[in-house]
Amino acid sequence: MPAIGTRAAHTCYECREPMVWTTGGIRLPDPLAGTSKGMTGGGERADGYRCQNAHTNPPCPVCQSCDTDVWGTSSNPPQLNASCNACQNQFVHSLLEG
Ligand SMILES: [Zn+2]
Ligand SMILES: [Zn+2]
Repeated sequence: MPAIGTRAAHTCYECREPMVWTTGGIRLPDPLAGTSKGMTGGGERADGYRCQNAHTNPPCPVCQSCDTDVWGTSSNPPQLNASCNACQNQFVHSLLEG
């Protein structure tokens, strides 16, 4: 895992600002959202890359690490191509809400 303040090899896929490693700066989606249990607590916070405009890398769907690299985007459908530095998983992150 990178040290705090480490610059990512890539820039932010949204605003092209540098991405910097932070701890606890990323709010993961709450897996219980929409259920009665999801009403009581928020999502977990995780370590990951974050730009100054609070954009973050998508977490790996396999190991939940936010030590991921976004290396491609597409607009139809809106999604990101990313790879995980922790488990080497390649994944597609949909940007569609809901
Ligand atoms: Zn950004
Ligand atoms: Zn992973």
